[in-house]
Amino acid sequence: MNLQQHVLVVPLPAQGHVKPLMKLAYNLAYHGIKATFANSQFVEAKILAAMSEADKEQCPIRLVSYWDGMESHPEERFGPVEMDSLKKVMTKNLEKLIEQINQSDKEPITCVMVDLTVGWTLEVARNMGLKQVAVWLAGPASLALALRIPTLIEARVIDENGSTIKNELICLSEGIPVWNSWELTWSTPGKPALQKFFFDFSLAINQVVENPTIVLCNTYYELDSSSCAMIPNILPIGPLPAISNLNPCSGSFSSQDSTCLSWLDKQPSNSVIYIAFGSTTMFSQKQFNEIAFGLELSGYSFLWAVRPNIVSGSSPEYYPNNFLERIAGRGKIVEWAPQEKVLAHSSVSCFFSHCGWNSTIEGISHGVPFLCWPYVWDQFDNKKYICDVWKVGLAVKYDEDGIISRHEIKTKIHNLLTNYEMKINAIKLMEDAKKSVSLGGSSHENFKSLVKYLKA
Ligand code: UDP
Repeated sequence: MNLQQHVLVVPLPAQGHVKPLMKLAYNLAYHGIKATFANSQFVEAKILAAMSEADKEQCPIRLVSYWDGMESHPEERFGPVEMDSLKKVMTKNLEKLIEQINQSDKEPITCVMVDLTVGWTLEVARNMGLKQVAVWLAGPASLALALRIPTLIEARVIDENGSTIKNELICLSEGIPVWNSWELTWSTPGKPALQKFFFDFSLAINQVVENPTIVLCNTYYELDSSSCAMIPNILPIGPLPAISNLNPCSGSFSSQDSTCLSWLDKQPSNSVIYIAFGSTTMFSQKQFNEIAFGLELSGYSFLWAVRPNIVSGSSPEYYPNNFLERIAGRGKIVEWAPQEKVLAHSSVSCFFSHCGWNSTIEGISHGVPFLCWPYVWDQFDNKKYICDVWKVGLAVKYDEDGIISRHEIKTKIHNLLTNYEMKINAIKLMEDAKKSVSLGGSSHENFKSLVKYLKA
């Protein structure tokens, strides 16, 4: 008798990781594979609070939770303290969780599918003799770079702290944009201890990647074939949004404010700038005001996702004087937008984004050009692809005071929206992305092989 295959999916407990992995889990369930999703207790409570009763009823996967060992979750950011805490308890608690599931469930867990950022938890699967699948939730170029670290150290291009020795550009292959010394995924200029932490973290990925049979990536092969070619066992199955018919609310840590969709319905086609900087980006009050003034000065209509904690150390009343009154009518502000539905809306003209990988691949899937403002990690890589490789966006630049000024924002918005070539390129990328997840497309075929592997 053939046993029903049962996959335990384990994300890093952060918004940009939980949401795409939940989509993947839903897709597995739609393909006849039983999927159980292991959230930290803190994250599970947030997701359930943001899900409607209908979503909960229709949820095709089982949600379970484990204790992540953290007393508090400051802004849901993941730095050394949080990762250390996770490392201490996660493996042990996941092992317990699997034992509990196996005791109470008719179908025991047969595969553990983990986010590579918590890749050490694959040890549990290894010890229990289960199938192991890793998932990389950023772009393939940043994984290709992480996998090249040992060679770069050996060649004395970077030192053991991740700093460049010769100050030269790092080039992995002809098709991959070069890295400047200050743009490496782990670079945190002026914060050597933090940089060392991120660097060791990237280096550790090398050991994890050696073991799993498959490394899934939320991209499609043709989008960055050069980087994909450098990663052993990679299986690009994205863009995940396009292969999913799931209600986009699932996996969100906050309720999505859908009033912006009816507002968008009333706007002319291709007229609204959508601004969202992901789940963790924070600004100084001064910088926040410059964004507000820049949007106002641009003269365009806009939809802005402003998380309640987006301004560091400020009260919720942080808009410039009378800003809200002045932009009423042409500006809509929500705390958390239904981003994928917004990007799919015909009124949206461009995406002012921090270039997190989910936002990048969601923007590509919907054919919108980008105005890029990367802050950390792989966001710089994504910006380079958007601006230099795919040519679907422009980037804002800091002035001599380290601020992105209102004038810079206004000018770049104008330049982007009058650049028809970028819009054409964006539409072409969207079509390629659709092709890749359609019957016979590369991601479609890869997803089929994944299902076959899991069912074997
Ligand atoms: N997102 C959303 N509503 C918002 C802002 C973001 O649903 O108002 C979602 C977005 O669709 C994406 C995720 O949050 O799936 C953010 O992930 P990304 O990798 O872009 O950035 P991160 O939050 O990890 O920095």
